[in-house]
Amino acid sequence: MPMLTAEVIDPAFSRFIIGNAPVIQLATGFSWVEGPVWFGDAGCLLFSDIPSNRILRWTPGSGITTYRAPSNYANGHTRDREGRLVSCEHGTRRVTRTEHDGTITVIADRFEGKRLNSPNDVVVKSDGTIWFSDPHYGIMTDYEGFRAEQELPCRVYRVDPATGEIAVMIDDMQCPNGLAFSPDEGLLYVADTGRMFSDDPQHIRVYDMEGGRPVRGRHFHTVSPGCADGFRLDSEGYLWTSAADGVHCIAPDGHLMGKIPVPELVSNICFGGRAKHELYITATSSLYRVTLNRSGVQRP
Ligand code: MG
Repeated sequence: MPMLTAEVIDPAFSRFIIGNAPVIQLATGFSWVEGPVWFGDAGCLLFSDIPSNRILRWTPGSGITTYRAPSNYANGHTRDREGRLVSCEHGTRRVTRTEHDGTITVIADRFEGKRLNSPNDVVVKSDGTIWFSDPHYGIMTDYEGFRAEQELPCRVYRVDPATGEIAVMIDDMQCPNGLAFSPDEGLLYVADTGRMFSDDPQHIRVYDMEGGRPVRGRHFHTVSPGCADGFRLDSEGYLWTSAADGVHCIAPDGHLMGKIPVPELVSNICFGGRAKHELYITATSSLYRVTLNRSGVQRP
């Protein structure tokens, strides 16, 4: 049986992993997969194959089926407090919610009359507000959307779905990308992946949440090699992030705990399974899974 050959940097990391639980390739043959989201009630995982313009569904036992095609070049996904799918779409430059009856509601597509760039990743806070990053990756080429003029800076926005109000939360990053709250929502983590194209930032910043806004943004961790395209927190506040060589686990104080090597460049991760103890990994052309001795933040 294959073994997990994790790289333990902090000795405590050896308790986070299960030595005889391998990294399993669940499916392959995709173009560039991203945006995994676990649906425990439906017993499946959804994720995007962005260049192929589709959202896929992986179900244990039956494998891959198409959830939505075309997907408007959807990227990141999450679920709101009612369990509905919330999606970032590059092609339509918007954030949407899929209602329980399957109809699609637009959450945000403009700010002050200008079109968003290409919403990338999204998270929903316990108060129902929807937070998303809006870098320009999806409008730079025709590969993951439609090449177009950038109308707005790259920012992080918050939408109050009750009023529809959209507000700028972070506007001093080059390319905000992955984002997630700490388990108690006292901290917001946001990656800046500006270095995809230059020597610019390639780190995760952490913000204190005060009065519903992120404040005192500061450096948290520089991912190397690769970037924090997507990440999630476990129930004890450890951050599990994408990297070029696999998945990295970062302690709440910002130090690297260890790495789980993955054969392809990782884009994003999410926790799933019965106890949220399985890490689902989207990595270039494949979907992988590894079982951990940790659990993700418990959400629907
Ligand atoms: Mg991303």
